Amino acid sequence: MPTYIVLIGPPGVGKGTQANILSERTGLAHISSGDLFRENIKNQTDLGKLAQTYMSKGDLVPDDVTIRMIQDRLSRPDCEVGAILDGFPRTPAQADALEDMLHGFNGRVNVVPQITAPQDVLVSRLSDRWTCRESGHIFNMKSNAPKLTGVCDFDGSELYQRDDDKAETVKKRIEIYMEQTTPLIKYYRDHGKLFEINGLQSIEQVTQSLMDATKSKS
Ligand code: AMP
Repeated sequence: MPTYIVLIGPPGVGKGTQANILSERTGLAHISSGDLFRENIKNQTDLGKLAQTYMSKGDLVPDDVTIRMIQDRLSRPDCEVGAILDGFPRTPAQADALEDMLHGFNGRVNVVPQITAPQDVLVSRLSDRWTCRESGHIFNMKSNAPKLTGVCDFDGSELYQRDDDKAETVKKRIEIYMEQTTPLIKYYRDHGKLFEINGLQSIEQVTQSLMDATKSKS
């Protein structure tokens, strides 16, 4: 039976970093809805052009478009053993759609780790965040700097600051997260799947908590 982990947490809490590490350790595919949109924007696909109009303002891309993109990604062979979902679902409607999709793949959401941190920490982390152009590896100039400034340690590609990591957009993204994701957190808590993790711990400690959560619920 495949294993599906839904990582929840506000922008800047370290979801992407942790999903990359967890994917390496468990062999589960890492699916980041934000990365999929950014890939489409880079390739100037119709989906990318549409998504950009929402993303540049910090708004959510409409559910139907997002759900279709994730369904397509989950159907690929590297997801046969399961996946770590990062950034999806964001709304209860997306969570319902995910349940339906996973039934089709003979699976279910096993565990929903929720990583938390105070808002001022998130804003400051995002303004120091640099992302790799090639595969979305994430660095932080204060706490997790690359060996060479502006260059990804993993694939040597250029590091850049995301447009939506600017302070005003960041605050809006956090507000939207709080507004849209609170019902989702309640939904997964009511289903006994939520596992809270303190995002102020070190990267290694957060990873350990995630591994513990995965083992306890699989
Ligand atoms: P992220 O990289 O997860 O911070 O996502 C960046 C942006 O992509 C978000 O601010 C949204 O505009 C869009 N996005 C990512 N995931 C979703 C989703 N599940 N539903 C709707 N929009 C999304």
